[in-house]
Amino acid sequence: MSTSSHLTPEQIDTFKKVLQKLLKRVEGDIQESGAEMHQALPQNFRDAVVDREELEIVEIANQVETVEADQIQDALQRIGSGDFGICQKCLKPVGYQRLRAMPYAKFCITCQEENEQK
Ligand SMILES: [Zn+2]
Repeated sequence: MSTSSHLTPEQIDTFKKVLQKLLKRVEGDIQESGAEMHQALPQNFRDAVVDREELEIVEIANQVETVEADQIQDALQRIGSGDFGICQKCLKPVGYQRLRAMPYAKFCITCQEENEQK
């Protein structure tokens, strides 16, 4: 299903970088167990994000506190296998706006809502 992605290679690359940064951050947070939380993002984290769109996505994603390292690793695996941005339930594209808000989203909004109702 290599033709099923609705994202450009550049967009996928941006999401990949964002996910890798998020993963580092999430894992860092776990190690620091909240003690260093006041510092929020380390300075070099912000400096490392050069692409404006990348920075935007990271900032949006940072507002989501419930993300787990597993979800991010999962998304990175889907990038590797070409399934990124595809709903893992109905196989339809997950909207780009949804991915921007939640780069590790596994399901489209419809399936996500269905899952939550059960
Ligand atoms: Zn779906």
